[in-house]
Amino acid sequence: MFEFYPEVNLSRESLLKRIKGQMSEKRFKHILGVEKAAIALAEKYGVSVHKASLAALLHDYAKETEDQVFLELIDKYNLDTDLKNWGNNIWHGRVGIYKIQEDLELKDPEILHAIEVHTVGSPNMSSLAKVLYVADYIEEGRDFPGVIEARAIADCSLNMAVAFETMRLIDYLAELRVKIYPQSIETYNAFIKYLK
Ligand code: GDP
Ligand code: FE
Ligand code: FE
Repeated sequence: MFEFYPEVNLSRESLLKRIKGQMSEKRFKHILGVEKAAIALAEKYGVSVHKASLAALLHDYAKETEDQVFLELIDKYNLDTDLKNWGNNIWHGRVGIYKIQEDLELKDPEILHAIEVHTVGSPNMSSLAKVLYVADYIEEGRDFPGVIEARAIADCSLNMAVAFETMRLIDYLAELRVKIYPQSIETYNAFIKYLK
């Protein structure tokens, strides 16, 4: 385990305290599960284990941030105004990175990119972003139909795991009759070839 994270100039202990202060006990457990899964995937697929650890620990940092804060950040950083038509599910990654930068002075572009796209993916995801996207889905605390299959696929191919997760996510969202964020569909279109 890493004792110090120079990207945020904090010891692990202080960083975990900061993160814990932002969220429920349950969500904190989730981020530790994501970290464990992300480290395993990073080792397997030749990605920086340190960056995987930090990206995982911070990925849901803004998940319990109030809507009003996100709306202000969208204005402050001149982000796509269409974001205002969405909600916390889309904001906590895409807009959450601005809160993380403000609160923790994190500047590492690779880690910020991975956190930015962790919910909806992107056709141009880095390997680190893929590791986080998949780890979030398969971490040990997840329990939903298909998670065992997703874990098995993640053991074979990172791209196939991204494809499988995105396919299942879009299927699930359609079943729920909720809007699908266009970037989720772009991710699907870019990765579905790996499932053929
Ligand atoms: P979590 O933060 O660990 O719960 O996981 P995620 O960040 O991956 O997803 C957060 C929530 O956003 C989940 O409930 C997803 O089902 C939902 N979500 C992901 N993509 C979309 C989308 O395109 N549209 C909508 N409406 N919800 C989405
Ligand atoms: Fe999330
Ligand atoms: Fe998460």
